[in-house]
Amino acid sequence: GAEAVYNFCSGPAMLPAPVLAQAQRELTDYQGHGVSVMELSHRSEEFLAILHSAEHGLRSLMHIPDHYHVLFTSGGASPQFSAVPLNLLSSGGAAGFINTGYWSQKAMAEAARFGRVVEVASSADSAFKSLPVWLSGFQTNELDYLHYTPNETIGGVELFEVPELPTDTPLVADMSSCILSRPFDVEQFGLIYAGAQKNIGPAGLGVVIVREDLLGSAQAQCPRLLNYQTLVEARSMANTPPTFAIYLADLVFQWCSAQGGVPTLAKHNLAKSDMLYDVIDRSSILFNDIEPKARSRMNVPFFFHDKNLESSFLAGAQRRGLLNLAGHRSAGGCRASIYNAMPLAGVQALTDYMIEFENTHV
Ligand code: PMP
Repeated sequence: GAEAVYNFCSGPAMLPAPVLAQAQRELTDYQGHGVSVMELSHRSEEFLAILHSAEHGLRSLMHIPDHYHVLFTSGGASPQFSAVPLNLLSSGGAAGFINTGYWSQKAMAEAARFGRVVEVASSADSAFKSLPVWLSGFQTNELDYLHYTPNETIGGVELFEVPELPTDTPLVADMSSCILSRPFDVEQFGLIYAGAQKNIGPAGLGVVIVREDLLGSAQAQCPRLLNYQTLVEARSMANTPPTFAIYLADLVFQWCSAQGGVPTLAKHNLAKSDMLYDVIDRSSILFNDIEPKARSRMNVPFFFHDKNLESSFLAGAQRRGLLNLAGHRSAGGCRASIYNAMPLAGVQALTDYMIEFENTHV
């Protein structure tokens, strides 16, 4: 048979093998109905059961309390860059942003189209390689919400502490690349959103977890399909939802709980990322220059002191079935994304190769 292939893509990322196998088995005949999930009406009893199961799967994995709504949305994470300000930003208020790099800046730039934004903390001074520091000159009571990105997928920076303001300003988190990777206390957040293509399922699906009291104050021009109140009332079916993606998400949630839930996944993720950073730190040809306590457990960028080695490293990796290790086009270098579905054996195969490569190149 084929040798094991490990896909380190940052997203769309690898999915758990048993999930793909089940989807394959059921592809043309879902549970004896004679049709594919893709061909089921979104109003059918069968699909409603899938939607219900997906919502409850996520609720139980994250311990989402009843006063939070769970929405499945279309378009991945980016539509939430618009939806959050359109729903939460008032005309007299401001949206606070913690600037930790690429994705927080994307969210901030989009919010600025719909109202006032204030950068309240930043790690720009360290070129986004360390934890952000609070900036002065803003009033916490003028903020309608505070937005942050707990894991910067490209920079490889993760914030393990939840930021706290002295007021009860709702905290909004873009958890696209860290949702379900470690425990979060949902009650610390007003709103959580994520694109599915890392830890949940196929690209194009989004998940929004929104606290009940934040509904109903959307800006007048907020498009109907971005209005959380509308989406809640329509139970994620304000238009035809991405049914097959929701089905796959449901299977991934079942897989996550079969692994032992989020605490177990978090333990695996810590072991995987420790193994990888350890080899990078011991290497004389590789480095990662992110402040150690801000190093991401999901996305591990690494660079060669001698840039000329990079292309032969990547080509050799590819030949061994270690796929998609090139860094983001804006960052260069290499990056290993090691989400929930990446087994320890995949990281072991990568570190074995890194050591072997080093031994033949020094
Ligand atoms: N936020 C973060 C943290 C991401 O990593 C990404 C995608 N890599 C996005 C937002 C954008 O997601 P999408 O392409 O689904 O809009």
